[in-house]
Amino acid sequence: MFNLVIFGGPGSGKGTQSEKLIDRYGLTHISTGEVLRGEIAAGTELGKIADSYISKGNLIPDDLMVSILAAKVDRLMPSSKGFIFDGFPRTIPQADALSEMLEKRGEKIHSVIGLEVPDDVLTARLIERGKVSGRDDDNADTIRKRLDVYHNTTSPLREYYIRDGRYRSIHGIGSIDEIFTRIVEKIEQ
Ligand code: ATP
Ligand code: MG
Repeated sequence: MFNLVIFGGPGSGKGTQSEKLIDRYGLTHISTGEVLRGEIAAGTELGKIADSYISKGNLIPDDLMVSILAAKVDRLMPSSKGFIFDGFPRTIPQADALSEMLEKRGEKIHSVIGLEVPDDVLTARLIERGKVSGRDDDNADTIRKRLDVYHNTTSPLREYYIRDGRYRSIHGIGSIDEIFTRIVEKIEQ
């Protein structure tokens, strides 16, 4: 298998670039945000719990998030030639759980694609997205909170993956195709 993590702040383009990577490399997309929004839309018990965190810009607790992810991985692994993890890991414990989970199954993360976008650009993109996304976390107050959570809790993972040599830094401003070209260049290096 060939497994990637796509990493970056809220609105950095993880979902958009994942779709293009799937087309190019035939990978399986696992977006934790999409999984959770699916549960919310279906009105499940899990969805209700998830909504109480997401709508405030907070992260879902690690143990819950890890068990959701493990179930997804197990279901999709037999038919997959590789995963793109989008929105996971978001904390150091999640990253440890992910390596452990993959190791047990004889797999690993090959590279972490880090989309580097400054906060002012992220904020502007999310405000724009909020006008059409219908996502109730794309509003000014929640966006500010999500950026705080990103800097305090998620961005230490950047150093974590830089230290172990798997981080691939991508300049995340430009057209969707320009950014995609940069990602493909890094992957094929
Ligand atoms: P992008 O626009 O780059 O795809 P995003 O931050 O807008 O990123 P999602 O990745 O879809 O959006 O996440 C939306 C919300 O779902 C998060 O703010 C968080 O509350 C919850 N969530 C998603 N993934 C995780 C995770 N790994 N751990 C905890 N909570 C998560
Ligand atoms: Mg997303």
